[in-house]
Amino acid sequence: AATNHRHTERFFSTCCYCGVGCGVTVYKDRKGRITVEGSPDYPVNKGMLCSKGLNLHYTVNDRQDRLLYPQMRMNRSMPLQRVSWDTALDRAAAVFRSLIARYGPDSVGFYISGQCLTEEYYVVNKLMKGFIGSNNIDSNSRLCMSTAVAAHKLSLGEDSVPVSYADIELADCFFVTGANPAWCHPILWRRVEAHKAANPRVKIIIVDPRRTDTAAVADLHLPLNPGTDSTLHYAIGRLLIEQGHLHPDFIMDHTEGFESYRQRVFARTVTEAAAICGLPEEDIRKAARWIGAAKGYLSMWTMGLNQSASGVNKVLSLIDLHLLTGKIGIPGSGPFSLTGQPNAMGGRETGGLANLLPAHRDLANAEHRRAVQDYWGSGPLSAKPGLTATEQFEALAEGRMKAIWIMGTNPLVSLPDVRLAEEAMKKARFVVVQEVSRRPETLAYADLILPAAAWTEKEGTMTNSERRISLLDKIVDPPGEALPDSVIFSRLGQKMGFSGFDYEGPADIFREHALLTKGTSIDISGLDYAILRDRRSVQWPYPTDGGAASAEGTPRLFIDHKFYTPSGKAVFHAPTDEVRSEQPDDDYPLILTTGRIRDQWHTMTKTGKVNKLKQHIPQAFLEIHPDNARELGIAEGDIIVARSRRGDVRVPARITDGIKKGTVFLPMHWGKILGNDLNRTNNVTNKLLDPVSKEPDFKFCAVSVEKYKKR
Ligand code: SF4
Repeated sequence: AATNHRHTERFFSTCCYCGVGCGVTVYKDRKGRITVEGSPDYPVNKGMLCSKGLNLHYTVNDRQDRLLYPQMRMNRSMPLQRVSWDTALDRAAAVFRSLIARYGPDSVGFYISGQCLTEEYYVVNKLMKGFIGSNNIDSNSRLCMSTAVAAHKLSLGEDSVPVSYADIELADCFFVTGANPAWCHPILWRRVEAHKAANPRVKIIIVDPRRTDTAAVADLHLPLNPGTDSTLHYAIGRLLIEQGHLHPDFIMDHTEGFESYRQRVFARTVTEAAAICGLPEEDIRKAARWIGAAKGYLSMWTMGLNQSASGVNKVLSLIDLHLLTGKIGIPGSGPFSLTGQPNAMGGRETGGLANLLPAHRDLANAEHRRAVQDYWGSGPLSAKPGLTATEQFEALAEGRMKAIWIMGTNPLVSLPDVRLAEEAMKKARFVVVQEVSRRPETLAYADLILPAAAWTEKEGTMTNSERRISLLDKIVDPPGEALPDSVIFSRLGQKMGFSGFDYEGPADIFREHALLTKGTSIDISGLDYAILRDRRSVQWPYPTDGGAASAEGTPRLFIDHKFYTPSGKAVFHAPTDEVRSEQPDDDYPLILTTGRIRDQWHTMTKTGKVNKLKQHIPQAFLEIHPDNARELGIAEGDIIVARSRRGDVRVPARITDGIKKGTVFLPMHWGKILGNDLNRTNNVTNKLLDPVSKEPDFKFCAVSVEKYKKR
């Protein structure tokens, strides 16, 4: 590779899209333009990149849409005007101080992103929880991973993914549910496909109401009725017990709650479960036989389970299958939550969600609060959980919150029932948008716009789905006056009069963060930028004394079958399999599910400007079964209106028998185009939340569909 790039400088980074976290080698020419290729020796991707990763350089080289300097207005009827950084941050600090003095610290909030670097998460979380005195800081990770986090904590005692990508090549049965990794985690899926190609006896079971590209390579596709995941998991659990595949010693020595689990799974016959799931009974039996016979059993899931009003219950019932069979903490086995965003896990390490403290400490635990407070030298930390993503916007709409600071996320496209978020932005007294691009819809409501540095324009770390922390080089200077987010938040802390925000740079922030993890389950106190530069990445924990960690860190957790619960045992939960989602009725007879397409990322503020990526699927669409289309008089390509109790969407129809009858699908990416929001999926979705994780129900709401008629 180096000979192809003579006369250039070479750098290392990590792809800033999905949680697979592929290693990227970046070359910079004399004009400062970059090219990218997959790093051949990086353990995650071994030289491969998917379509999004291969086009990363376009988003850096094309700076036409970048925000270049701070802009401010004194009220919404005035135009935004260019101001200096000092003026912008003085105003932000003054408004926040005045609102806090008048209405209390919970009157303000930060809504940040799973695309933030760990150092950025650390500083803003410290500022808000330690010094402003509120836990109203949440990330858009709330929309994707909070369910998996809650289930891991309940079941394993901590938010800890037990496995590594290296377990893929050691597994002989994959149960992939609520996920389309062929499109959404492509490089990880290529590893699964290559493993299957080399070992035809490997079994792949895909659970999804849609026959996706992932399902195309399955040995068994289970197109279940939306929402019935727990019922399926319990039916498999019952069969595993009946077929003698349970692991009595593991259950006895290392788990709690098996008896209630046994009662739960035997409360319903497999025949009854098959009818509820809309699946052939024999297919469920086949899945159970393959799981039971496997030496290495990996279950992989993502938004199909997480983005649900019963999401935590679904994930708990999936993890139960590993506890039942003892297939956790051994090679090729374990529950594997596939992270959506590139640094959702790093953000959680710093405690960057409304209900967390740094290093997976608990907000409700007074000793944990005290430890963090002492370390930060801050005032007492509030024990009251902060408002989560959707709750912050509700609080703004109702006047309970007065100001919001939005960073690196686009809630006016991505939040459920998005018109509520629009109302919130209109009612907010003060909106700060800290952003890279001029594209996000939120900018229209900003009182203060702060230009941020983008990928390759700043140094910092991220953690991928397998707990792998990597260091991203700074490669080019940010355009105009844009600054790294950690610098912006540090300066805000100083402007607000707080101490502890005079960092020398990201390495300094990282060390402070790393030392705060000492003695916790994610201990990385032995880690610093020098080690990361040398090794490029390691997997946590990485304690100072070596411990379980090798030079590369800790690839697999729970090898001693000691879990992070108070008893040291993993816990069967066996919650109800009741579907809590909005049910179809005569007015809204179809179930809408939403998701990603292969070549777009989130609300398209980055991928939407790359022509090559727009070619795959250039416009939004609604996928519908031929029988439903026929009943509704809809032909391929007809413009349809999908309507819910909250709003409507107008897009062309795509008719396919690859979707379960009675279910329709919309991609999540599109927002306002040419000033209208007719193809914005979240006009129709529901703000119903999982009661534990507070993750929205993006995968299930009731809609009607009809052919669009001009009035
Ligand atoms: Fe980037 Fe994910 Fe593609 Fe890897 S699989 S190149 S991390 S988008």
